[in-house]
Amino acid sequence: MKFLDRIMYLNFSLLEKISKFIRNDKCVICSKKTHMLPLCSHCNNTYLNFNYSAKRCSNCGKILVSEENICTDCRENPVINNIYKIIPMFSYRLWNKELLFKWKIQGYRNFAYIFAKKILEIYNEYFKDYVIVPVPPRPGKIKNQGWDQINDLMNFLRKISNIKIVNLLERTESVQQKKLNREQRLANKDSYILKKKYLNTKLPSKIVIIDDILTTGVTLENCAITLKNAGINTVGAITVYIAD
Ligand SMILES: [Zn+2]
Ligand SMILES: [Zn+2]
Repeated sequence: MKFLDRIMYLNFSLLEKISKFIRNDKCVICSKKTHMLPLCSHCNNTYLNFNYSAKRCSNCGKILVSEENICTDCRENPVINNIYKIIPMFSYRLWNKELLFKWKIQGYRNFAYIFAKKILEIYNEYFKDYVIVPVPPRPGKIKNQGWDQINDLMNFLRKISNIKIVNLLERTESVQQKKLNREQRLANKDSYILKKKYLNTKLPSKIVIIDDILTTGVTLENCAITLKNAGINTVGAITVYIAD
């Protein structure tokens, strides 16, 4: 499985062909044999279905239950002020916690392929002709860990589309966001800067930031502030999950 994972990462279409002849590939959720990795088509359709018709917070993209237009969090304590539209694809609950854990922590890197396909759908629906900017990893992460989930997403997006993707940003702090409490995260500003090589170049006017999970919104907001200060007019965002 790990070996197949690696091939999958290198060449997913090749693996799709090979896996048709291998009988012991198992869906990482239901363990049923499948030709599609890492999820069988049933689990893919059941657990990773984007809800196009849901009413969303116009500020953070969270699905609204009883509120009108803006969610309670954004009304009472708005973190996001520089992003015109955020589309988080899935709620970080129930099985989705396990999916994210398998992807990020256990290293099932081929989840990036599935998520990249979903991101492409959302991009085409809401952000056509925007340039994609990924949230950059902590300095040294790719060197130390060997990979980064957002970087993987970008690699797959490049394989399945012609969308322009530019790594405009770099991250300057080394304190992990998740080790900070909410107050510290809010105070932990200016951690994303425009890469030096883009300082005196013509930048796109519309950008969509991609991240894996929207928790407080501070990461996206800080990226957006940096991009706006660099002269970019419109900043949107797509995240795979939202912790709502
Ligand atoms: Zn399954
Ligand atoms: Zn909101």
